[in-house]
Amino acid sequence: MERKRILTGDRPTGKLHLGHYVGSVRNRVRLQDEYDCFFIIADLHTLTTKPEKENIEALPDNVRSAVLDYLACGIDPAKSVIYLQSAVPEVAELALLFGNLVTVPRLSRIPSLKEMAQGAGIEEMPFGLLGYPILQTADILMPRAHLVPVGKDNVAHVELTREIARRFNFLYGETFPVPEVLVSDVGSLVGTDGGTKMSKSLDNAIYLSDDGKTVRKRVMSMFTDPKRVSADVPGTVEGNPVFVYHDVFNPDAAQVEDLKVRYRVGKVGDVEVKEKLVTALNAFLDPIRERRAKYESVSGLADEIVYDGTMRMREEARATLNLALKAMGLSAVWNRIARKAEDVKKKRDKAVNQ
Ligand code: ATP
Ligand code: MG
Repeated sequence: MERKRILTGDRPTGKLHLGHYVGSVRNRVRLQDEYDCFFIIADLHTLTTKPEKENIEALPDNVRSAVLDYLACGIDPAKSVIYLQSAVPEVAELALLFGNLVTVPRLSRIPSLKEMAQGAGIEEMPFGLLGYPILQTADILMPRAHLVPVGKDNVAHVELTREIARRFNFLYGETFPVPEVLVSDVGSLVGTDGGTKMSKSLDNAIYLSDDGKTVRKRVMSMFTDPKRVSADVPGTVEGNPVFVYHDVFNPDAAQVEDLKVRYRVGKVGDVEVKEKLVTALNAFLDPIRERRAKYESVSGLADEIVYDGTMRMREEARATLNLALKAMGLSAVWNRIARKAEDVKKKRDKAVNQ
């Protein structure tokens, strides 16, 4: 039996951070043996908020950086297809077809799109940004994926994908699987500023490639319990980003529990809690950093991986688009016209030659 498929990916807007790791990358690494995986580097999606030339010029380096982060985290390109969205033009055609299966009010109700516009300082919703989840639907259905591991902010997009897949199948016959979403147990990692989401654009991130000194600096300036003015004041652990990170990244559960107990009664300073977090984070990041450095030293490695993956994905995309066009009866439109035209031409040529 054929294995089930995964599609997920990232926009190449820069380096990956801890939020990307716990929200999606960790699940990819865990599932890559069980599923056929397709990881998209979604550069067309960056245009929805950043269409300017200088952002496009930054894409090749950002793509390489994403691939190195993947490899460093343990994604194996021999098992998974890593590809560049803009080099697979079929995705635009599929998105155009899907755009007819969804209404503008339905798209307007998706909260993440408004948040993205706000975050990018955009006042009026661009057509492309409103259509972000349609393009994402084309990404997901292109390899006919069954499972989509993403962070919480993307759940509403996968819900739309499911609706579009069902609608397509209803109108044109069973063509696409209706994919399941997989949200990790840390669906949205808080930022170092206590904001709801660690994010590049909010400058509240710790990157997988940050060195030890940078991690220390970021942790030491982290937001904690604002009501706690000194170490002897009882503090709140719940929702406190320093403890959220301890829970996720510190494998020493007894140490974390001890810190929490003392924090609650005002028997430990923020500095000690943070020092221990720096140690835990650096221990977590060290092997990732080492692998990243090793892969980075191989000239052209990331480029070759994306090249091979994209070539593979192009075949996949052609096959899926053909399936969709056939199901819709759209390929038959041209086929009939073309057959008739060729027929007429052939007959005319024959008559002239006689
Ligand atoms: P950023 O705002 O930092 O650029 P992003 O939301 O643009 O991040 P994407 O490239 O759009 O990141 O998403 C990549 C994947 O990582 C998505 O599945 C997204 O849900 C997930 N993700 C991003 N940030 C976080 C976070 N703070 N916590 C959990 N998952 C996250
Ligand atoms: Mg991003």
